[in-house]
Amino acid sequence: MDLRKTGLLALIAAVPLVAVLPLPDFWITQLNYIGLYSLTCLGLVLLTGVGGLTSFGQAAFVGIGAYTTAWFTLNMGLSPWLTLFIGLAFTAVSALIVGFITLRMSGHYLPLATIAWGLSLYYLMGNLDALGKYDGLLGIKSLSIAGYDIGQGRGFFVLTWAILIALATALLHLLDSRPGRAIRSLKSGTQMAEAMGISTFRYKVTIFVLAALFASVAGWLLAHFQRTVNPSAFGLKMGIEYLFMTVVGGVGYVWGAVVGAGLIKLMDDQLQVLLPKLIGTSGSYEVIVFGVALVLVLKYLPDGLWSMVEKKLPRGQRAVDWNDAAALPERGKPAHGELVLDVGKIRKQFGGLVAVNDISFQINAGQIVGLIGPNGAGKSTTFNLITGVLTKTSGEVRFRGEAISHLPSREISRKGMARTFQHVKMIPDMTVLENVALGAHTRGSKGVLSAMLSANRGEERRLFKEAQRQLERIGMGEYLHEQAGNLAMGPQRLMEIARALCADPALLLLDEPAAGLRHKEKLALGDVLRQLKSEGMSILLVEHDMDLVMQICDHLVVMEFGTLLTQGTPQQIQQDPKVRAAYLGTEH
Ligand code: ADP
Ligand code: MG
Repeated sequence: MDLRKTGLLALIAAVPLVAVLPLPDFWITQLNYIGLYSLTCLGLVLLTGVGGLTSFGQAAFVGIGAYTTAWFTLNMGLSPWLTLFIGLAFTAVSALIVGFITLRMSGHYLPLATIAWGLSLYYLMGNLDALGKYDGLLGIKSLSIAGYDIGQGRGFFVLTWAILIALATALLHLLDSRPGRAIRSLKSGTQMAEAMGISTFRYKVTIFVLAALFASVAGWLLAHFQRTVNPSAFGLKMGIEYLFMTVVGGVGYVWGAVVGAGLIKLMDDQLQVLLPKLIGTSGSYEVIVFGVALVLVLKYLPDGLWSMVEKKLPRGQRAVDWNDAAALPERGKPAHGELVLDVGKIRKQFGGLVAVNDISFQINAGQIVGLIGPNGAGKSTTFNLITGVLTKTSGEVRFRGEAISHLPSREISRKGMARTFQHVKMIPDMTVLENVALGAHTRGSKGVLSAMLSANRGEERRLFKEAQRQLERIGMGEYLHEQAGNLAMGPQRLMEIARALCADPALLLLDEPAAGLRHKEKLALGDVLRQLKSEGMSILLVEHDMDLVMQICDHLVVMEFGTLLTQGTPQQIQQDPKVRAAYLGTEH
C-alpha cells in the first residue's frame, strides 16, 4: 500500500492506543495542546504555505471561537455543540470582512493588516466588560458527549485528535481537487490563474475564511479544555508563534503543521525549565532560542522539517480511473470562415510612448494569423490588450460578435479565448496532468466543501479525462504523471498549449511558443500547430521564428514601432520591401 496511506492509518490507530496506554497525564496534556495548536497551524498551511498569504492574525480567530463559546455557555446556558456553530458563524463573518478589506492588498500590506487585526481584537477582548476584560471569563464547563464528561485528559485527547485528523484529511482532499489546484496557483501570481477563468480574489477570500474557521474550532476546544479564556492566549505574540510553528514544521505541507506544533510545544516546555537553570536567573529566555532557531531553519531548511520527510516519500502515481468518465460539455464553435476576432483600431499609450498605435486586423474561424515584427514592435502589448490583461487607451475588440473591451481577462477567457504565456507559467510541483486540468477549471463546478468531503470524484475523473485527451491530442501522452517542473522547455510549452486547449477555446492565442526551443522541439511544435489547424482551430500566433510563421500562418500582420506596417499572405509579406527593410534595416 501507499506509504502515505499507511502513515495516516497508523496515526488513526495511534489515537485510541495512546488513550489507553498508561502514559503520564503530563504527556496527555502536552498532546492536547499540540492537537489544538496543530488545528490553527493547519489553516496556516492552506493560507500561507499553499496560498502564499501571510497572516499574523490567526490567534485572533482562535479568540473568537473561544470567547463565543465561553460567553454563550456561561451567560445563556447554551450547549457547547451549538456554540461551536455560533463561533464558526462569527468567525466566518469577521474573516469575510477582514478578507474583503485586506486581500486586495499586495506585498507587505496583507501581513501588516493581519497584525493590525490581531492587535485590535486583542485590545477589544481586553477592554470589554462583558468579556471580563483582561481577566477573561472563568468557570467554563468541559465538553460532554451524551452525558459522558470528556474532561481535560484522555477523552479530550481523542476528541481533539479525531477532529485534527479529520480536518487534515479534508485539507489533503481539498488540495488535490479542482478548487485545490486553483488555490495552488495563487502563489505564482494571479495572471495565469485569471487567464484560466479563475477568480483569484474569490479563492483568496475562501482560504482566508477557511483558515480562520480552523482556528475557530481550535478556540472552541481550547476554551473547554482550559475552562477559562483570557486575551493573552489570543494576542499578537500567539499569532506570531502559530506562524513560527508552521514555518518550522513545513508551511507547505499539511503534516508540517502537526510536526511544527509538536516540536515547538515540547521545546518550549523543556527550555522554560532548562534555560533559567543554566543561566541562573529566571526569564523568558526560550524566546531567544526560538528566534535563533527560526533564523537557522529559514536559512538551512526553508521548507521546514516535513520537507525532509516529503523527499523520502515515494511520489505515488495517480491511478488512472477515468477511462469511462463522461466527456465534459463543449461550447458551440464558430462555423468555418466565420469572423471570430475583430480588432478595431486598438491603441495603448504608456505615458508618451504609443506602444500600440490604432492596430486593426481580423481572424476568421479556422485561420492561423501571425503577428510579427521586430523586438519592441508592440506584439505582446497587442496580445495583452486582446486578452484583457492590459486596458486599452482606445479602440474596440469584438470576439464572436460581442464587444469584450470592458471585460477582465478572466471573463474573456470564459467566453472561449485561451492563451499561453511568453514565459511559461505553471505550477512546478504539480504533475503535467494536474497543470493541464487547471485549464478546464471553468468547465467544472464542484467547490471547496465537496472537495473536502470527497464528494467530487465524478467531476475530477471527467476533468482528468479531458486533460489526458488534450495531452494525447498534441503528442504529450507519455508525460501525464511527470512533474511539470522537471520538463524541458519544449514539453513545457506544449503543456501550456494542452492547458489552453482544455478550456475548449474558440480562439487560441500563443505568445512566442517557439521561444527558447531547440530545433527538434520547434519541429514538434510545428507539427502540433499544423494538426490544430487541420482540426479547424483558430489561432493568433505571436512569434519571432520566421520559418515557423511562414510555414504555418494563413495571414500575417506586421507591426513596427507600434504601428501596422502591412498585412497579407506569407508570400505577399515575404516579398514586401517595407517588411524587409523593417527586419534588415535596408531597402534591399
Ligand atoms: P514586442 O512584444 O513586440 O517585443 P512589446 O509589446 O513588449 O513589444 O513592447 C512595445 C513597446 O512598449 C516597447 O517599446 C516597450 O518598451 C513598451 N512597453 C511595453 N510594456 C510597457 C509598460 N508596461 N510600460 C511602459 N512601456 C512598455
Ligand atoms: Mg513580446
